[in-house]
Amino acid sequence: MVIDELITLGLNFLKKEEFNNPPLELRLILAKLLNVDKSYIYSHGERQVTKDIENQFMEMVKKRSKGYPIQYILGEKEFMGLDFYIEDGVLIPRPDTEILVEYIINFINRYYKGDRINVLDIGAGSGAISLSIAKYCPGAYVYGIDIDDAAIKVSNINKERFDLSNVELLKGDLFEPILRLNMQNEFQIIVSNPPYIPKEEIEQLQSEVKLYEPKLALDGGIDGLNFYRKITEDAKKLLIKNGLLIYEIGYNQGKQVSNILDNEGYKNINILKDLQGRDRVAMGFSFDC
Ligand code: GLN
Repeated sequence: MVIDELITLGLNFLKKEEFNNPPLELRLILAKLLNVDKSYIYSHGERQVTKDIENQFMEMVKKRSKGYPIQYILGEKEFMGLDFYIEDGVLIPRPDTEILVEYIINFINRYYKGDRINVLDIGAGSGAISLSIAKYCPGAYVYGIDIDDAAIKVSNINKERFDLSNVELLKGDLFEPILRLNMQNEFQIIVSNPPYIPKEEIEQLQSEVKLYEPKLALDGGIDGLNFYRKITEDAKKLLIKNGLLIYEIGYNQGKQVSNILDNEGYKNINILKDLQGRDRVAMGFSFDC
């Protein structure tokens, strides 16, 4: 078959409205299989492909037709201008999280430009947050922690992909690897995008997320706030005086996370909204807490 015939065939499998751009997805799949740029697919519709490519293509299209995320099929997701390697078992980086990362980069440029500072990321996943900060703020040394082997493996692949030496990915539960290194009051910034979906709401997530993304990265306990409580309390030991603790939060968690920060003594608590006007980021500063 030629490329255009394969695209037409593939379209029959991706008819449901949940797929918002099937022709593009199909071209991206073919581009990956043929190891070419997607513009090549547009301009070489008459190119013949081997039976082997045809079979691999159809296998991927069938997987996709069941809602399996395109990012896992392609093995890639762009975040902050960087092409992250992604595989089954790690959360796919979300555009909303760029709001959090952009804030941190601006904060560092404003208050610590060029300084050698320490940043800690709890729940690093694919490394989206840790590695973007390390990339755009070369003076920062970033420690990314994750409890999951798949996350440590994938984030290390990305560290190598972007050729970064100012970041270290450590396996362990929350602050445990850092306490082991005995780094108390040494962090200018602690950031986390923890699991924050309330347990019973996981069933209501889109099926692509619910069926195929890791529950470990989503489940925030009964009210979704478990990790905010733990991290907010323990971060006090690790932040410098006037250090920044900053979180991604769920669209309706601004008030609750602000209260947690307030109860633990953080000051200048602030919420940032996403482009839809929903709560997306919460932060506070450790003065005398
Ligand atoms: N934002 C993610 C979602 O919409 C949730 C990520 C998280 O729990 N940290 O599924």
